[in-house]
Amino acid sequence: MVSKELPFTQEKIKEIIAEHPTPFHLYDKKGILENARKLKEAFRIVNGFREYFAVKALPNPYIMNILKKEGFGVDCSSLAELILAERTGIVGENIMFSSNDTPAEEFMKAKELGAIINLDDISHIEYLEEVAGLPELVCCRYNPGSLKKGNAIIGNPEEAKYGFTREQLFEGYRVMKDKGVKRFGLHTMVASNELDPGYFVETSRILFELVADLSRELDIRFDFVNLGGGIGIPYRPEQEAVPYEKIAEGVRDAYEANITSNGLHPLNVYLECGRVITGPYGYLVTTVRHLKHIYKDYVGTDASMANLMRPGMYGAYHHITVPGKENEEPTHLYDVTGSLCENNDKFAIDRLLPEISRGDILVIHDTGAHGHAMGFNYNGKLRSAEILLNEDGSFRQIRRAETVEDYFATLDFQGLDEI
Ligand SMILES: *Cc1c(COP(=O)(O)O)cnc(C)c1O
Repeated sequence: MVSKELPFTQEKIKEIIAEHPTPFHLYDKKGILENARKLKEAFRIVNGFREYFAVKALPNPYIMNILKKEGFGVDCSSLAELILAERTGIVGENIMFSSNDTPAEEFMKAKELGAIINLDDISHIEYLEEVAGLPELVCCRYNPGSLKKGNAIIGNPEEAKYGFTREQLFEGYRVMKDKGVKRFGLHTMVASNELDPGYFVETSRILFELVADLSRELDIRFDFVNLGGGIGIPYRPEQEAVPYEKIAEGVRDAYEANITSNGLHPLNVYLECGRVITGPYGYLVTTVRHLKHIYKDYVGTDASMANLMRPGMYGAYHHITVPGKENEEPTHLYDVTGSLCENNDKFAIDRLLPEISRGDILVIHDTGAHGHAMGFNYNGKLRSAEILLNEDGSFRQIRRAETVEDYFATLDFQGLDEI
């Protein structure tokens, strides 16, 4: 049985629980920092490399601030995320704004902040001009259609709602050049949770070739290409992390073959990953509330899909460790559940674990991205707190748990007698 290590002891968990009742998400700052530095180090060989952290994965100002200090930008996709960046002190071209079906106020806010605006459709050129005016720098999102295979989560590019076709890119950049836009970027994102480094190298090659074609035909200059996010993480203990060096070396070679050797002006290379930046460094900590034995054996926890959607929504695997029982044989087959009135509210199905008792703590791994952020209030469930574990073992609550008052904040009981 392969296992996954925890970066904290059972004593530390108990210490945190004494102050903050379960469930909560715990984020390992040391792990986040080491990984951020590893990524930067690997990509030093790539011209003008920068990572724009996809805020939607873990929209918390403390986390964003940690990454800001490492020199990362942020990738935002909504008004709230833009304001989150602004209030964290991240503005200007440190923000990539990659939205779709975008409302006017979001373009206005992005323009006001001086963010890099990444357009999702050719019709948005005119729309952006109308509602906010065209900035000096504009990026377009490319949908390669049948040129590239997508993967399971995002699906085939031809079926995906995102981006411009190749023909629309030529038309769109031409129109923007005529309207006085000076600097250009090119973006694509066609995969999610992809573990094959070759996939990202291939994406970069497609973008560099396209930059060469666009630059030549339209006589414009590209500031950057943005390879999108989508680098996967090893959710399963037998999987391995994507070697950043493999991607970086392949991207550098593709750059040399298409940009340098064509005599094109140097351009920067960006990523906008979320999952791989914080995913492995988050843990949902939950307490076993009940054990139930019917046709199967169930472990009922004090967390639910409101805290972590991925298993229920995608059937995603999240490893579970029982602190204090790491060395016990996994002899019991359980479904690990939450308390929603939905039968897919399960963190694991048919999972072999050591024998579980009421009051045991379970640690659900890899919840640092698309975990808390996807939470919802169905069934009147409340979203949990988020705790940051510092390098020195101290910890700090970086988001409080929702209260019943939060749940009721949008309801109105005053008018009940009037109807
Ligand atoms: C979701 C998303 C990302 C981040 O994806 P990860 O899988 O978390 O790396 C980046 N860019 C865009 C446009 C996205 O929609």
